[in-house]
Amino acid sequence: MSSRKTFTQSQRNEIWLYYINSRMWDIFNNDRLNELQDSGSYIYAQAAPCPFCGEKMLKAQYQGVQPDKSFSWDIDHIDNNPTRNNVVNLQPMHPWCNKKKAGQNI
Ligand SMILES: [Zn+2]
Repeated sequence: MSSRKTFTQSQRNEIWLYYINSRMWDIFNNDRLNELQDSGSYIYAQAAPCPFCGEKMLKAQYQGVQPDKSFSWDIDHIDNNPTRNNVVNLQPMHPWCNKKKAGQNI
């Protein structure tokens, strides 16, 4: 396991915002994302689909603040390099998905 960087609340906000404003729309079908938003199922400032499994993450359930909830999220390094902490290399992800993703990259 690599040592984990601790992210401040403002960094977490920045990572979440970058994801919901940019990256999320590259990963998922945009019509579907608009549908989820229009139906009120998702308010992206508070909830977003996990980039790995597509299931819900809740912004308030950040792993470091409320560990192991149903909609917990942690911060994933997209290229799996933990020293690259630029926001474009970071995204929110379920902690359990993050583990699976790491396992796939051996
Ligand atoms: Zn997930």
